[in-house]
Amino acid sequence: MKVQLDSEVCRGHLRCHVAVPDLFDSDDYGYAVLIGDGQVPPGLESAARLAAANCPERAITVED
Ligand code: SF4
Repeated sequence: MKVQLDSEVCRGHLRCHVAVPDLFDSDDYGYAVLIGDGQVPPGLESAARLAAANCPERAITVED
């Protein structure tokens, strides 16, 4: 599983970072950035889906 992040629409709530800190980090301005290439670490698939579902801007896309 892999996630993509559309930084053009990200507004920096960082809900994603709170939900999956091993997958989402924040940049110097408080916006989300992916850790690595977005590959979801084993066992974090559900958390990644939750992060996508809870992003108010729909900035996260999950690819199976
Ligand atoms: S929850 Fe969505 S809009 Fe908010 S920081 Fe994360 S990716 Fe960006």
